[in-house]
Amino acid sequence: MIRTIIGLVWLLLLVAGVAGCGRFAALQQKDPPQGDLYTAHNGSISVSANAVTQSKPRRVSWITLARKYPGAFATRGPTSSKRVALTFDDVPDLEYTPQVLDILAREKVKATFFVVGERAAKHPEMVRRIITEGHSVGNHSYDHTSYALLSMRKFEDQIERTGNILHSQIGYTPRFLRPPYGEITPAQLMWTQSRGYFVANWNVDTEDWKGLSAGRILRNVRRTLGPGSIILQHAGGGVGEDLSGTVKALPSLIRILKQKGYELVTIPEMFSESQELESMRLY
Ligand SMILES: [Zn+2]
Repeated sequence: MIRTIIGLVWLLLLVAGVAGCGRFAALQQKDPPQGDLYTAHNGSISVSANAVTQSKPRRVSWITLARKYPGAFATRGPTSSKRVALTFDDVPDLEYTPQVLDILAREKVKATFFVVGERAAKHPEMVRRIITEGHSVGNHSYDHTSYALLSMRKFEDQIERTGNILHSQIGYTPRFLRPPYGEITPAQLMWTQSRGYFVANWNVDTEDWKGLSAGRILRNVRRTLGPGSIILQHAGGGVGEDLSGTVKALPSLIRILKQKGYELVTIPEMFSESQELESMRLY
């Protein structure tokens, strides 16, 4: 009961602070940037996942998580080589996912798609297309609930349910995770690490889910782009969500990245030199 009330308060704060956005509107701050904002959100985590046992707010930034859990959490790849990874969240849908796949095929670029389990169950043919065309997939929860609001059991269920759906569709369980909104608590991260998962967040936020123009998306990329960057975009829209800017920007984005000398790689490729990540799959 206490947890429910606290969860509702957290939710209200969240909804009040952030513009709504389509299908996942209930929690739609969608893409918090790394660092400060996340710290602020994570300060609220004390009143959700750890509410029963802890009274003090726990503030854990992505920077801290990456430092404390180097084999389990990252917002960027190694900076030693000029590589970047394009990532697309909230897939699959039947509107934007095929358009993004068409462009990637035309440009001969491989990307990583973070799949929402209930959407994969609805559109298995799109998941298979993503794999057939040589891209990587990762686990983006079952129904896009913020993990910070969940008990450990429900949190684990979000990951395992989606892992099972993907396993039945593509023959293996992806080891890369991206939590909804990028939010995960230290306790949850310890669990994912113990199961061999790796959380891949991002350090370049296009903020494309806001329905931005292609030009604005490209400007957002330039702000924090560098070797090892993981670029966050979306290729699955909610009701009323407009990702046409994402689609329009993508050919230019790819051209600009190539002109700057970047190699475009998938998330498994990005982390393939890491000892803890010799494989992209869990069986
Ligand atoms: Zn998402």
